[in-house]
Amino acid sequence: MTTAFSTSSDAIGRPAAATTRPATGVVEALTAVLPPGRVVTDPDVLASYAHDEAEWAQHVQPAALVRPRTAEEVQAVVRACIEHRTPVVPRGAGTGLSGGANATDGCVVVSLEAMDAVLEVDALERFAVVQPGVVNDDLRAFVAGHGLWYPPDPASSPWSTIGGNVATNAGGLCCVKYGVTRDYVIGLQVVTGTGELVRLGRRTAKGVAGYDLTGLMVGSEGTLGIVNLVTV
Ligand SMILES: Cc1cc2nc3c(=O)[nH]c(=O)nc-3n(C[C@H](O)[C@H](O)[C@H](O)COP(=O)(O)OP(=O)(O)OC[C@H]3O[C@@H](n4cnc5c(N)ncnc54)[C@H](O)[C@@H]3O)c2cc1C
Repeated sequence: MTTAFSTSSDAIGRPAAATTRPATGVVEALTAVLPPGRVVTDPDVLASYAHDEAEWAQHVQPAALVRPRTAEEVQAVVRACIEHRTPVVPRGAGTGLSGGANATDGCVVVSLEAMDAVLEVDALERFAVVQPGVVNDDLRAFVAGHGLWYPPDPASSPWSTIGGNVATNAGGLCCVKYGVTRDYVIGLQVVTGTGELVRLGRRTAKGVAGYDLTGLMVGSEGTLGIVNLVTV
């Protein structure tokens, strides 16, 4: 869902925090459709959301930061940004190493960090339904309390979110034997780039017919939509 990067850089080639192109009316539109406090325009806060761990990659100050708490709020954000032709950059914990969450010119950064609840654990069927902002280690600890194990273990697991793990198809040492994130995601709820709220995938082990749209979303790095619910 991101668009063109700024091309400016400083004397040693690092990308400069360039002036953001004003996103005409989008901040007002977001403020109008979201509950109070969700839209942030404080320059100091925006600076801390301008890039992920890839500070070397091009980035600019975003026009706004939004911290939605529900799927409907995510959808409202995407729709407002479509209406105002504003790029959307989804963000988890910002531990990415490739600049995928770096702000682009005039964009709105959508941080999923406040959507951090484990909504359901079914020990018999061996699945959990979680919001995207749940931290990887927290999910592993939570399901362990139900006698379950969540294997994908990127080295960033103390900080990175399940939403970010899904978007990057993250893997760690356990993945050599047990598989990567894609092997553990069976269902998703996503707000697409056209602003639709869609459910993909399944809740059971035996659900094998049809196109694997869940698999398509995993690893798509926020380019196809914003993940707002994950069944693992
Ligand atoms: C110390 C360290 C160790 C690391 N080790 C590993 C490792 O072993 N294996 C590995 O695979 N990676 C590793 N990484 C990279 C990084 O942690 C992973 O890519 C992680 O999955 C990113 O999660 P995040 O929540 O920080 O996402 P972010 O960095 O915030 O975002 C990453 C990408 O996902 C998109 N995104 C985030 N949330 C959503 C969402 N809800 N919907 C749609 N798109 C979204 C963003 O737009 C961006 O493109 C490491 C990073 C660090 C700093």
